[in-house]
Amino acid sequence: MLFVAIIILALIALAIYWLTRTSEAKRSGGTSLRRTAASHINANGTPKRGYASMDAAQDAARKQSASTNQSMSAYRCSTCKLFHIGHA
Ligand SMILES: [Zn+2]
Repeated sequence: MLFVAIIILALIALAIYWLTRTSEAKRSGGTSLRRTAASHINANGTPKRGYASMDAAQDAARKQSASTNQSMSAYRCSTCKLFHIGHA
């Protein structure tokens, strides 16, 4: 009888595991979509300053890293094809 109970518990655990995995896949899909859109836009909703070259963006990132004591990095934006800086 104990053996049957263990099998039932294992099946319940498997069902819970499967349900969690399914809902997590949906959640992470929504998050990555938001992250892509946010790379061109600041936290306050305005478009980020665009730099014409990677050199200019990296220079600005270095200066901002030094003045704010936060690690900033430069990257190319897929929305406007310019370069922005953001938190590393
Ligand atoms: Zn952009």
